[in-house]
Amino acid sequence: MDALTAAFALIIAQLCIALVMTGAHFAARPERSTRYWASAAILIVIGVLLVVIGNRAPSIVQLIGNTCLVFGGILQLWGLQVFFKMPRSKLAWMLGAGFCLLFFLLGLTGASTFNRILLLSSTMLLLLVLSCRVLLIGMPSRHSFGSLLTLGATALLMVNNIVRIAAAIRQDPDFLPMTQSPTGITILYLVPLGGIFLYATGLLLLYFERLVDAKNHLATHDELTGMLNRRAIVAGGEREVAVAIRSRQPLTVAFVDIDFFKRVNDNLGHEAGDFVLADIAQLLHDACRNVDLVGRYGGEEFCLVFPGAGSESVALLGERLLAAVRQYRVHDQHPITISVGFASLPDQGGDRSWSSLIHRADIALYQAKELGRNRFCVAAQEPAAASGEGSTRSSDRHIARRASALTIADRVIPSG
Ligand code: GH3
Ligand code: MG
Ligand code: MG
Repeated sequence: MDALTAAFALIIAQLCIALVMTGAHFAARPERSTRYWASAAILIVIGVLLVVIGNRAPSIVQLIGNTCLVFGGILQLWGLQVFFKMPRSKLAWMLGAGFCLLFFLLGLTGASTFNRILLLSSTMLLLLVLSCRVLLIGMPSRHSFGSLLTLGATALLMVNNIVRIAAAIRQDPDFLPMTQSPTGITILYLVPLGGIFLYATGLLLLYFERLVDAKNHLATHDELTGMLNRRAIVAGGEREVAVAIRSRQPLTVAFVDIDFFKRVNDNLGHEAGDFVLADIAQLLHDACRNVDLVGRYGGEEFCLVFPGAGSESVALLGERLLAAVRQYRVHDQHPITISVGFASLPDQGGDRSWSSLIHRADIALYQAKELGRNRFCVAAQEPAAASGEGSTRSSDRHIARRASALTIADRVIPSG
């Protein structure tokens, strides 16, 4: 492969990247990073074209071509910063301006091509270092494949620029543009070709990973409170029960219901009611450990799962939950209270299913309401006869609540 063919391969690759990024931009306009990445690819195409032409043309074409390459790099960096919701770097802009000035001065003084390669490669290296920093700061905590691929490609391009800098300092003629040397063609064109392909693939992967994460979050979280939604808390609860049974660990479930919440809506308005729901959800969440699950089961009712917590921990948990909302005031004056029903996984025997567990917690909650609210009740270890089939449908829940509320709770602890 000669240098001209390699340069055109680079141009075609960048054009493909520009097309894909433009498509991604039109598919999701609010995500502005794809617009930067598409523009960067177009600038790099123009830059490579002009550098190829400029090899035999006046230095102004070289100046414009090289400036396009540098500003392509700047747009890529800004795309990354916009993607990770960081401010766009002014330093990159200053680097671009400094590059133009120095390149122009090199042209005026008739400096050698090696000096121009040195200037271009050093500027690109600095931009890549800045990109690397943005990636390391902005990367999601779990090291995703997209982040690792983008970082790997950035490292490859950085090494490529370091080799170019070394070649320019040594004034190695194998690394002049339009070289015929296979090593020169590899370093000047083929490695950047692979690097930018990997880099663009990494950016696209980052982008799709974010889309998938957002979709999963929407499917599993309640919009108002940000907690797990009913489907996710049930799925998570069933999973935790299976783990607890397999590993012979205790587990406790709580149903939390805000007391007289209808009055909040009636007296303060539905919007204030929404804020209270979100605040109480957050307070409950803050009162739990990282391993606990907190979900909105429906309306003003929350379901909490405490893996590893047995019946002996329930008094502590109940006090902690009640205390979490005790100081809370709507508009700094109206207190809010909650009622809680707890049920723990039976040590042995009995119905150890998730549905039986929440059925018993639901009945304990009903008893806390019956006894005056602002307190928690604990379900007895064995489910009452009425809960035999462990149904959770709301119609069954009310019948079962009435049938067995007075027999199932073995402890009632009012709020202090
Ligand atoms: P109790 O102490 O017996 O639980 O009384 P309560 O008033 O809390 O219970 P009730 O079931 O009578 O009322 C629940 C209220 O919760 C009625 C409903 O309008 C309100 N609610 C349910 N979901 C939402 C919501 O998303 N936002 C707001 N603002 N209110 C909601
Ligand atoms: Mg209520
Ligand atoms: Mg309710």
